[in-house]
This record gives sequence, structure tokens and C-alpha cells, in this order.
Amino acid sequence: MDDPTVPVRQPGGGALPVVMRCGEAGCDAQPVEACAYVDSRGNACRTHWCEEHGSEVSGRRYCRRHAGTVAALGSKANNPRALPDVGHRGASLVRWVYRDLDPALTIILEKVSLANEHLLRDTEVAVGRAADGSRCWEMSWKLASPSGVRMRITLMVEEKDDSVVFVRMGDNVLASGVPPWIEARRSGQTLTEDEDREQRRSFYAFLEQYLTEAVSQ
Ligand SMILES: [Zn+2]
Ligand SMILES: [Zn+2]
Repeated sequence: MDDPTVPVRQPGGGALPVVMRCGEAGCDAQPVEACAYVDSRGNACRTHWCEEHGSEVSGRRYCRRHAGTVAALGSKANNPRALPDVGHRGASLVRWVYRDLDPALTIILEKVSLANEHLLRDTEVAVGRAADGSRCWEMSWKLASPSGVRMRITLMVEEKDDSVVFVRMGDNVLASGVPPWIEARRSGQTLTEDEDREQRRSFYAFLEQYLTEAVSQ
């Protein structure tokens, strides 16, 4: 990948990096801003973007990746401890898969809900703790009645690997998998639109099948 920063010699002899191009591949526009994202460890994104390729969330400007992260965390993005490492895509991946699965999960859970229960959906990604004590990012569906939560289905991505999505029922992991679009990116494959659609369909069908069986037991 091209490095958009070019060191410029200063009169004093020091090199000051000057950003010449937007971080978007193929965009030669002048960058107007740096991504405002700073993770829990204090590491900043520092990529630079033109007007068109940066995004605004809650009044601050970010690169597209971190706009996705901050939007997924919603109000929780105000808690520095909730912010994943600069290179970690977990929070936005959880929200993405949650939205895609939500229509099917709603049907699956409504079929098994009892008369006094209702379905609770999360609107934001929460930071939690994985079994080994490291952080994870998650969203849940819950079947709840006035006496409490009877069933909880959770999507989770762990800190140690931001490509694997886990599906939990209560505390038990039912299934895990790498979404096909991430697998394709990792292996450098370019999928046709049809291939992409088919792979997504079969990935979600796999998760829905596990969930259908699990909730009816
Ligand atoms: Zn641009
Ligand atoms: Zn960024």
C-alpha cells in the first residue's frame, strides 16, 4: 500500500510528515482532517481523509472504519474503556451481523416466547468480558417477563480475533464463524456480486439453523 505521508525536510533539519493524499485508495483529493479516534490504550488512528471520505459521528470526524466503531458503540463510545484497539473491527462487525440476523431472530424468538414475555433488543454494542478476562464486544436479544430474562442470545467478537463471531445462548457458545466477506478479504479473493450474496445467505442460514434448534430445546 502507498504511504500517503511524505516526509518534508524542514529548515532545521527535522522531518515533518506532511499528508499529501486522502487515505482512500485511488483518491487524490487533499485531506482536510485526521480521524479523531483514540483507543483505550491512547493510540490514535491518525489517518487523513478528504471531505468526501471522512465521516461524522456525534460531531466528530473519523475515517470510515472508526465512524463504524463509534456509531456501533453509541453512547458507550463516551467510555474510553469500551473503545477497541485502533486496528480492531469487532464492534462494527457485531452490529453489522446483529442487524442482518435481527429479522430471522425476531421470528425464531417470537415462536418460543411465552404469553407474558416480550423481546428486548439491544441498540448499541456493549463491551463485556470474555472467559479469559479480555474484552469482548457484544449485542443480545432477550426474552423477558416481569420476573426476569429467561433466554438471552448474544453475538460476540473477542479482543484477540476480530474476524470470528461467536453466538452464545446464555453463557454457552452455540456456534462461531468467520463471516464470508471477511474470509474473502483475508484471502485476497474478489467475489462476484452473486457469489457474495450466496455466501452471505449460507452463512446466515447456518447461524439461523443453530439458533432455531437451540431455542426449541
Ligand atoms: Zn478522499
Ligand atoms: Zn480512524
